[in-house]
Amino acid sequence: MAGRRILLTGGAGYIGSHTYLALSEAGHAVTILDSFENARRSVVDRLGRITGRPVDVIDADVRDAAALDAAFAQGRFEAVVHFAALKAVSDSVKRPLDYFDVNVGGLTTLLKVMEAHDCRRLVFSSSATVYGVPDETPTPETAEFRAMNPYGQTKIIGEQLLGWLSASDPRWAIGILRYFNPAGAHASTMIGEDPRDIPNNLMPFISKVATGELPKISVFGDDYDTPDGTGVRDYIHVEDLARGHVLSLGKLFESGEGHLVNLGTGRGYSVLEVISAYKRASNRDLAFEIAPRRPGDVPIYVASAEKAAEVLGFRTEKTLDQMCASSWAWISGEHSGGTD
Ligand code: UDP
Repeated sequence: MAGRRILLTGGAGYIGSHTYLALSEAGHAVTILDSFENARRSVVDRLGRITGRPVDVIDADVRDAAALDAAFAQGRFEAVVHFAALKAVSDSVKRPLDYFDVNVGGLTTLLKVMEAHDCRRLVFSSSATVYGVPDETPTPETAEFRAMNPYGQTKIIGEQLLGWLSASDPRWAIGILRYFNPAGAHASTMIGEDPRDIPNNLMPFISKVATGELPKISVFGDDYDTPDGTGVRDYIHVEDLARGHVLSLGKLFESGEGHLVNLGTGRGYSVLEVISAYKRASNRDLAFEIAPRRPGDVPIYVASAEKAAEVLGFRTEKTLDQMCASSWAWISGEHSGGTD
């Protein structure tokens, strides 16, 4: 496929930065738009070092219509890959207005500017969280929406908004990607997940216990109805996930039609299995204790990966061991732990 001019909102974040590399490698001309509220500026410099090319970056918030308008006037983008959003579940319970403002308001602002500039191709970051506690595992895309918290609700509303928009005008082609649990880091060891605060998510938390930054892992519940009683998730290597976006975008251009797919591996691992895999990868003894269940947690999330294979030809390539090894290479290497 010929290279396209792509706007990547939230492109300095964890999944966004890996997707920047995948899109660039596929020959696209990518411009990052990021507010840097929850991303590090050093990431941009690193992306430039990895690709050997200057990185085109716009420092702006996705709710800023004037900034988006100026970006489109200059960049004449043919498609948008939209990551810019807030994503912490417990935070969303504490400040729902901010989540609706950024995740729904930001999306609406972006779509209006896209329409004004005759750009109607979009890849949208959604999440397995839209399934709430699903009836079926592995969970197919046909499972119903169940909001468990404001964050999940914003993703459901985003998907519904995009559905109505596509129905209003067939020129829109929108790929909705429901991510399962992204993990791991880029093979260069120059970018990876590096939250500013104490991590909420399992893999970055384990990685900080492995480096000695945090004392021990709390395993949130061992009395779930799962093989070892701990929560089961479908972890997907962030490089596989990034490749899913390249395929989604290619499909939008090729077919002119939208799609809705899960991006996961189709196989689940328990918290204890992830800790064991990380022990092997890091060769560190990882202390953990069984703690109470985390409120709002779901026992099992595993994707049905069939539709993504059928529609996009997407199949994951990397294993849990590779996720742990790349996470460890990144977090124990010289490039992580930025202060900017
Ligand atoms: N988890 C845990 N300890 C932690 C963080 C997470 O036991 O410090 C568990 C959590 O209960 C869930 C799994 O690890 O079963 C994945 O949690 P994460 O927050 O990474 O993802 P999500 O809950 O969004 O799927």
